[in-house]
Amino acid sequence: MSEGLRAPKGTFDVLPPESERFLAVRETLTAPLRRAGYGYVETPVFEETAVFSRGVGESTDVVTKEMYTFDDRGGRSLTLRPELTAGLMRAFIEHRLHTGALPVKLWTVGSAFRYERPQAGRYRHFTQVDMEALGVDDPALDAEVVALGVQGFRDLGLTDFELLLTSLGDGSDRPQYREKLVAYLDRLDLDEDTRRRAEINPLRVLDDKRPEVQAQLQDAPLMVDHLSDSSRAHYDAVRQYLTDLGISWTEAPMLVRGLDYYTKTTFEFVHHGLGAQSAIGGGGRYDGLSAALGGPDVSGIGYAVGVDRTLLAVQAEGLDIGVATGVQAFVVPLGAEAKRLAVRLVGQLRQAGISADTVYGDRGLKGAMKAADRSGASHAVVIGERDLAAGVGQLKDLRTGEQIAVPTGELFERVRATVGA
Ligand code: AMP
Repeated sequence: MSEGLRAPKGTFDVLPPESERFLAVRETLTAPLRRAGYGYVETPVFEETAVFSRGVGESTDVVTKEMYTFDDRGGRSLTLRPELTAGLMRAFIEHRLHTGALPVKLWTVGSAFRYERPQAGRYRHFTQVDMEALGVDDPALDAEVVALGVQGFRDLGLTDFELLLTSLGDGSDRPQYREKLVAYLDRLDLDEDTRRRAEINPLRVLDDKRPEVQAQLQDAPLMVDHLSDSSRAHYDAVRQYLTDLGISWTEAPMLVRGLDYYTKTTFEFVHHGLGAQSAIGGGGRYDGLSAALGGPDVSGIGYAVGVDRTLLAVQAEGLDIGVATGVQAFVVPLGAEAKRLAVRLVGQLRQAGISADTVYGDRGLKGAMKAADRSGASHAVVIGERDLAAGVGQLKDLRTGEQIAVPTGELFERVRATVGA
């Protein structure tokens, strides 16, 4: 390798043993989805740029400033996915999944890319778990989606997180509210950039974290106070189902998520041990997204959870997420003949579902025993030349140091019975 090559700015490598924890977080966050009938989908990490410019929204920072967009050698404009929902929707539309049974429940997990200013918890390459329930607008489904997000965090043992919830209304009430908000924002002292953003999507100003902006927003009109009867009934029903499911939340009337397409139920999960980048996940209903991508006019709700940030939350709470590292058995051969026996024994054990390893390269007894200790194995099989001559191997309990001689023909069964129990 040439000198000085490093992972690109804002990216990082996940190495053992921490990588086991990363996998465990990913697995724990996705298990509740499988249990609830969501099907796994794999989509490309890059899409035609229009998938995101239309599907994420032209007013968002993600689209205007953060996308990794490039022309391929055929002159197509492609973009590395900055989030996973738009690609899933593109696949849903392309494969006409709406013509089957509804709702269509899907999940995926994988890399997302955003050209952000890197800081703790904010990276240019990160991993999201993403789920969507498409084709049905039923408040019970909104509650299911929110509850599945909560379940994943609970299953990890997290407690210091909070569910923020609001409703963003829909086509029947948002336009009137929007006018009120625009009139209010017009009277404020805002910089050029913010004014421009307000013109495209005034709701996004509510989400501005700067204190000088927040101070001016104290009396801003709120969407939840301007919901139509049907939006209010929808929101009330979602909250009733959440209560029935034993889930508590905090009303967050200023919550506006980073993407443009949300309607009605909108939520975010924040963790209190993470500092500035406290959002571990978020989502909501987006009844206009499919149509925006040229698909049928179907509703949808879903969320994205950040795996990297959830892992940071697990660390912040000091949780031991019980990751088994290392192998169960380790075989130490001395000499060429013993080595053949070792290779065969390790192969047999692995085939039988027992994790096993041996030494490679000429390590000598001392080095090999060190490797056995480091391997995490509870037991080692040591096969020396004298043992071999006597037709045995030594089965050693690495925790107590006790060892017994076992005939070579019985080693596999004995090891399996001892460590596999
Ligand atoms: P979003 O797609 O922006 O709604 O983000 C959903 C979740 O993905 C967030 O709550 C974070 O947990 C995670 N996330 C978003 N952007 C980043 C980033 N740049 N680095 C790490 N995690 C991120």
